[in-house]
Amino acid sequence: MNAMTQAAFHRLSDPVPDSCHGGLDERVGWLRAIADRLESEAGPLAMLMAKEMGKPVTQGRSEAEKCAWVCRYYADHAVDFLADETIDTDRAESLVTRAPLGLVLAVMPWNFPLWQTFRFAAPALAAGNRILLKHASNVPGCAAAIDRLIADATGSDRLLAHVEVPGSQVKDLIADDRVAAVTFTGSTRAGRKLASACGEHLKKCVLELGGSDPYLVLEDADLDHAAATCAAARMINNGQSCIAAKRLLVAAPVHDEFVDRLRAELAAYEMADPLDPGTKLGPLAREDLRDALHDQVQRSLGDNTAKLIMGGEIPDREGAWYPATLVAGVRRGTPLFEEETFGPVAAVVRVNGATDGVELANATSFGLGAAVFSEDLDLARRTARQLKAGTVAINTQVVSDPRLPFGGTKDSGWGRELGRAGIHEFVNLKTLLRE
Ligand code: NAP
Repeated sequence: MNAMTQAAFHRLSDPVPDSCHGGLDERVGWLRAIADRLESEAGPLAMLMAKEMGKPVTQGRSEAEKCAWVCRYYADHAVDFLADETIDTDRAESLVTRAPLGLVLAVMPWNFPLWQTFRFAAPALAAGNRILLKHASNVPGCAAAIDRLIADATGSDRLLAHVEVPGSQVKDLIADDRVAAVTFTGSTRAGRKLASACGEHLKKCVLELGGSDPYLVLEDADLDHAAATCAAARMINNGQSCIAAKRLLVAAPVHDEFVDRLRAELAAYEMADPLDPGTKLGPLAREDLRDALHDQVQRSLGDNTAKLIMGGEIPDREGAWYPATLVAGVRRGTPLFEEETFGPVAAVVRVNGATDGVELANATSFGLGAAVFSEDLDLARRTARQLKAGTVAINTQVVSDPRLPFGGTKDSGWGRELGRAGIHEFVNLKTLLRE
């Protein structure tokens, strides 16, 4: 264990009160103070993300503000969400209480360095837990900024402490007796390893993993709206989002028209300096990730049916740049259909109506988000219920919202963050009874 990890455990070593109620007022106050800080520091935090992982500053500022929102949301609702529940039984008293678990290890990815952390941290702190943060190795500045911001806002450096260790050593943290539970956001590959270590040490974990969200555009959809929404949903965060629109399944009669409109929308995403407030598409986080994405495009174009409509070439400039790319003619078996793509690459699949669309949408190991576009709301609602995902959006894009539970099924993970469900993941649901 390195010196920084030892110091982090030491900082977090004060015993956590056994009851949720003792310090709840204080914890609510902390969350409001953290929210204020996030808002007042949104500009510098956005600059830090742009420099460390290429997120356009306008999106970085929104991310910091969304973190403030999730802190305020739990500040407003923690008292209700953590309240004792009286259950009517034949005993004199039957109560359900919610006590903190203690120290929760949070293993986080680089793509939304603030949001992924705060959407877990806000409810976890509200519930009385403390956090050992192991952030992705390519965003050490963001990890340090989160640590400092929480300490400055609350006046305590004993609520969250970050460590700098490679992913391969996370299993040693999980094995440590001081860690009570684990939350993980990242790839399915690493999630499997982490879940296996949690199984070995019998520690509860929440897994927020990869996705290959299908967006199903039916024949009667408003095509302008669908194309604009699919473009925005694919290109968010330079295409590096778990809930990006990765497979666009389009009904055959409107397929060609949709592709034309989508190409027009994607043309607005020109590669530019992420520090410029007008930029919509910055560089990817790392060159190895860009190369892996390009390889997926190249392998897909080796399939006889896939056709490059735009982009698809690594530009001759320094950095992890990749242009907005559109590939049509994608089908089952094509790498762009079968694998998660983490970058600005839209893959269009032709489908024969809603039934075929649902079958293809569900023909994936992932189950994070999905969307359906149709002017027939009954059909859209029926279709939404058939899609196997943690969130399904109708005529809009999948987003995470502090008020709504968020998470996946199948290889996209288990457990939920956000909403009432999110704060209950890391509490001991304790039953009290009296004859
Ligand atoms: P990643 O490679 O899995 O890394 C995520 C975190 O896991 C990092 O802190 C990493 O540390 C750590 N890690 C790596 N190997 C590990 C191991 N064997 N055991 C435990 N931890 C390990 O993922 P990423 O490339 O940063 O993020 C992109 C992925 O995250 C995508 O698949 C995306 O869909 C998914 N994601 C999911 C959600 C969601 O809510 N479902 C949200 C955002 C992203 P190092 O950096 O030190 O390697």
